[in-house]
Amino acid sequence: MERGVSLERALEIATQLSMQRNPEALPLDQASGRILFDDLSSNVDDPRFDNSAMDGWAVREGDCKESGTVLRIVGTSQAGSTEVPLVGKGEACSIMTGAPIPEGADAIVIVEESTAHGDSVTINGPARPGFIRRRGENLTKGERPLKSGNLMTPSAISLAATMGHDMVSVVRQPSIAVIGVGDELTPPGEPLSENSIYESNTFGISSLVKKMGGIPRRYALIRDSIDDLREALDGAAESCDAIITSGGVSMGKWDIVRQIMEEEGDVKFWRIMMRPGGPPLFGSWKGKPIFGLPGNPVSSHVVFTVLVAPWMSKSMGSDEPHGSRMANRVRVTMQEPLNGAPGKLCMRRISIRQEGDSLVASTSTHQGSGNIHSMVAHNGLSLLPPDTNCEKGDTIDALWLS
Ligand code: AMP
Ligand code: MG
Repeated sequence: MERGVSLERALEIATQLSMQRNPEALPLDQASGRILFDDLSSNVDDPRFDNSAMDGWAVREGDCKESGTVLRIVGTSQAGSTEVPLVGKGEACSIMTGAPIPEGADAIVIVEESTAHGDSVTINGPARPGFIRRRGENLTKGERPLKSGNLMTPSAISLAATMGHDMVSVVRQPSIAVIGVGDELTPPGEPLSENSIYESNTFGISSLVKKMGGIPRRYALIRDSIDDLREALDGAAESCDAIITSGGVSMGKWDIVRQIMEEEGDVKFWRIMMRPGGPPLFGSWKGKPIFGLPGNPVSSHVVFTVLVAPWMSKSMGSDEPHGSRMANRVRVTMQEPLNGAPGKLCMRRISIRQEGDSLVASTSTHQGSGNIHSMVAHNGLSLLPPDTNCEKGDTIDALWLS
């Protein structure tokens, strides 16, 4: 077991233990936001045939060298037409966007630059070969523009349909147990006894798991009892792909997640040199990866953001910059001084906004790691290296939370 590791080292250790990556076949309608399991190749050329990019006239370019040329209309090609007239010398075929180019034609005159009268048309503008969209110019049959690990964005969904796929193979969503531990916790909605508080972390962490593309399994709260915790962990290891606990990982007598993991589990690291969120542990329980997140609500969110999110992303084989669904790294100019932390990466809550050409940041609320409102009131985290402070006007690394 390693103790007091850097965030980079924590990530390195955690990524040595991943979840199983399994495929799931889904109707395209349901694949939005999922990660592609296999490369997806095109069943067709795109475009499938030469067609017009504009409404107008399919003509022979050579016929239209002079403005005012009059051509004989031979018919119409509309999108979906199966019978398209030939265009001979001195002829034009009315054509709509997406309609097949008639044999003999090699350019398009747009409708705005023509005047039709009876069975002939006067051409008042240039005939443009560039307005013909050529067969296969976007994709050729068999090409693989979507790769394993790609996120199925709305445009990727559209592309999959363009290529003829009504089903796609995506990465099955991992199911992740979320277990809250603490005698003082009461589920929201229930009456509070003296000195108890509403439990929030299992809700927040479940929501984070969902955002990263997993399926959270929120467990009933565990009292500070080793036996109850063991039972919950055993059940979770059987039925889930990974486990996240909240609370009970510090040095206290009742920090039972740390205790049980030290005695009966396999701890890979404990404590990360970061603030907030110092006490997390990572290891395995009955073969399943387990993250022991701190109980302080801000700490658990921050540790999820910088550790669990990139781990999930990597483990699911996503090629998104890891953790980018949660946050993107940016440079910001601080509008006020910021205190760092001795020996620790310091992630203070900051508000990032665009001002002119640069991103600026400031802080507003109380920064305590118990104050979850600070995560709502801000949209970023500073990344102050250990033992550094920042002055007003300094430009620093930060995470812009999405
Ligand atoms: P612990 O890590 O168990 O020592 O908890 C640290 C702090 O976080 C304490 O103030 C706890 O009351 C609080 N806390 C622990 N778990 C939760 C939770 N699930 N929801 C809200 N606060 C919690
Ligand atoms: Mg506790």
